[in-house]
Amino acid sequence: MLDGQRRKLNAVTELIRDLQTLSRFGADGDDGGISRLAWSPPLLEASGWLVQQVRALGLDADLDAAGNVVAVWAADGGDALVVGSHLDTVPNGGRFDGALGVIAGLAALRQLRGSGFQPKRPIWLVSFMDEEGARFSTPMFGSRAFVGEDLQHLGTRTDGDGTRLADAMSAAGFSLEALSSARAIDRVHGYLELHIEQGPVLEAQDTDVGVVTHIAGSADLQVVVTGEAGHAGTTPMGARRDALVGASRMITLICQAAAEDGDVRATVGTIAVSPGASNVIPARAEFTVDVRATEDAAIDRFSARLSALIADIAREEGLEASLDEAARLAPLALDGDLQGALVAAAREAGASFTSMPSGAAHDAMVIGRHVPAGMLFVPSRGGISHNPAEYTSADDAVRGAEVLTRAIAQLAS
Ligand SMILES: [Zn+2]
Repeated sequence: MLDGQRRKLNAVTELIRDLQTLSRFGADGDDGGISRLAWSPPLLEASGWLVQQVRALGLDADLDAAGNVVAVWAADGGDALVVGSHLDTVPNGGRFDGALGVIAGLAALRQLRGSGFQPKRPIWLVSFMDEEGARFSTPMFGSRAFVGEDLQHLGTRTDGDGTRLADAMSAAGFSLEALSSARAIDRVHGYLELHIEQGPVLEAQDTDVGVVTHIAGSADLQVVVTGEAGHAGTTPMGARRDALVGASRMITLICQAAAEDGDVRATVGTIAVSPGASNVIPARAEFTVDVRATEDAAIDRFSARLSALIADIAREEGLEASLDEAARLAPLALDGDLQGALVAAAREAGASFTSMPSGAAHDAMVIGRHVPAGMLFVPSRGGISHNPAEYTSADDAVRGAEVLTRAIAQLAS
């Protein structure tokens, strides 16, 4: 067998083996779903496994104060090229979101170590803590700590069981007070992240990889609709101020408005009703609207439209309604030179490629506000993600890892 073929076969075997190993940490059961939430034992076990894998390559690796795994391939000088993604998942998530980026980075380190490559600048592999933010609504916690954001105010956030974030950190052996020491961005030159597309474009176009041009921004809106509680049996239908009926009408129209707009995506992902009894007319309905677009102006325009729409329905239904913006994440343009490096690497690897935006947020969005960042997408079957059915073929995963490896080699030379 030719040397190149054997090396490729080994790379495929190792990458698939690593993904299978990882998918055992936090496996939910028979459906193939995985739950590795922030600070949970399964995530920490997966992180510990990663540390061992990197150390086996003769490199330093450890968890920082934010629970990020940071592996370091030292060089004589210069700031680091960071390759990263995340090992945490949403509850009952898939095997590839985040994990594939980390495994591809590990595969790149393995391949470059094996080939005798000598980096001219340090190469770090980082698995960020809590990218999904699924447990405490704290997305990109680890990368935010990595760039030095003050996150102390998040310590009182609670999960579904009432556990505070600060206590979850303590239970895992970390301390919120020490978080500032996770800041490492000042020693970083640039950032690369491979990720599954989580959408249908690459598969539909039969394209191997996507070079990401920008990451959509988002606004988290909070709508509170207030009516009046009443007896389900004695209050006539025409005399009700039912907050849930108003909220339902609003939600339907919000999604219609987003479809008509074309530049935004809007999702109502949570709703809470109170008092919350089957025989009581809802007095209050509270729901969230996640609005995303690649331009801030599109988010502003859509928010204004929502505000008018909510006020109109509240008036018609005799309700009060308020709309607040709880959080805003500006869109990010990825670095032109790094896009160029990824394109060159795709050409070298013989991979077909296209340029595309990312509708989903990633750690690259946080890191890329401080240093140049680039992202590479590989196909997701059926565009399915955050779901046990999430799937990327071995061929696609290995091809993506190869493009990533070539880009790293080029940028660290
Ligand atoms: Zn992800």
